[in-house]
Amino acid sequence: MELQLFDTYQREVRAFESIENNQVGLYSCGPTVYDFAHIGNLRTYLFVDLLKRVLALNGYDIRHVMNITDVGHLVSDADDGEDKMEKGARKHKESAWDIAKRFEAAFFDDLERLNILKPTIVSRATEHIQEQIDFILSLEEKGFTYITDDGVYFDTSRQDNYGFLARLDKEGLMAGARVEVNHKRHITDFALWKFSGDTERQMEWESPWGKGFPGWHIECSAMAEKYLGPLFDIHVGGEDHISVHHTNEIAQSQARHNTNMANYWMHGYFLQLDKEKISKSGKSLTLEQLIQKGADPLSYRYLTLTAHYRSHLNFSWQSLQSATNALTRLRGLVSEWKRGSKEDKLPHAEYQQRFYDLINDDLNLPGALALTWELAQSDLESNVKLSTLSYFDQVLGLNLMESTIELDIPQEVIELAEKRLLARKNKQWSLSDELRDEIESAGFQVEDTREGYKIKSKKVELGE
Ligand code: AMP
Ligand code: ZN
Repeated sequence: MELQLFDTYQREVRAFESIENNQVGLYSCGPTVYDFAHIGNLRTYLFVDLLKRVLALNGYDIRHVMNITDVGHLVSDADDGEDKMEKGARKHKESAWDIAKRFEAAFFDDLERLNILKPTIVSRATEHIQEQIDFILSLEEKGFTYITDDGVYFDTSRQDNYGFLARLDKEGLMAGARVEVNHKRHITDFALWKFSGDTERQMEWESPWGKGFPGWHIECSAMAEKYLGPLFDIHVGGEDHISVHHTNEIAQSQARHNTNMANYWMHGYFLQLDKEKISKSGKSLTLEQLIQKGADPLSYRYLTLTAHYRSHLNFSWQSLQSATNALTRLRGLVSEWKRGSKEDKLPHAEYQQRFYDLINDDLNLPGALALTWELAQSDLESNVKLSTLSYFDQVLGLNLMESTIELDIPQEVIELAEKRLLARKNKQWSLSDELRDEIESAGFQVEDTREGYKIKSKKVELGE
């Protein structure tokens, strides 16, 4: 099956066609680096990673640009409130520049631990101030802006199709809004440049309109254009970006270039925590916290594969434990197959085709995972299973081939298992249980089979 992707703009699954042969220009909105990323944010980056891996399997070369929002993202989407970076600096008692550096580094550590492929280009908003000023100047020249006492604003009433991405009811919104909506003429207007005014800021720049800082949306439009041109293939972000951030990026590009910026707009749905929204400032959970409880970061990756990117996923410790068990089991099976296989074989053509069709069907990873288990439980030869799984893992990204531990079982553990086998034959059940406990405290697990027993590495139990 040819690659099909859901495009939020058209609200339908569309066959993917790139602008230029086998090249894909991809832009994903990056983190606001005022605190650690939470596992919800990371779900979105895992989704972007899957998309890239699927595109690569389809033979595309990907130029992936990701920004780092290190200025201008305000606490409220309505262009009010403090800059998240300045607020974060106060909270952490460090300069805004220092926290930007620190949390950007922590973010990239998280990506690495999750086996997420690096972007081709990482661009920081603070290093592209001139590009943003130039973009705003061109909007001003075309008459899309107005200046108030607090900044330069984009006049959304100048665009008939403003808000199409989010299917915004612009007229309804305007009719229901107060006439003077903070410093704006219309409720949907948004800041391109904000003046520092009387506020003392650590991050501010001179501009043709006065000292201040860029709005959040202009950074993505300016940097995407610099590295990918006025129209590129795919723009990605979390679902919360549909109604404001991406809507406004499109408005800016339409005003400047008369393009929709990207041909496909894709959005990852949220991860919830006990059915509630996770946020950096409220209810939150970081990858580091999962690791502290004994989880392998790739178990979290496995967990996110169990839900389609366009459905919400509720995080629970129980579901992470199930993902941990499944991943451990898969790794154990790979070890077993490795021991039982002598020569290399090609992947199984039918499984390969089925996998390809699933991932090309708008990234059906839950289906691909189910197929992985079908393969594992099939009676194909071990070496065929291995090569087929290695093909699957190019997309799953679970490092199944490398992370396999060749079990080195100590002689004393084998002796304990032998004694236990004997105890079971003699129906000495409590002795058999004691021996099982001894084996477990040595870090192994024993499983009864028709032939006798099997020793595996112990299941990882996540702590409380
Ligand atoms: P931020 O660092 O707040 O700018 O967000 C970074 C990315 O994470 C954006 O693409 C957001 O849409 C996304 N995001 C925020 N919260 C969640 C969540 N709970 N689940 C999935 N993605 C999220
Ligand atoms: Zn963006």
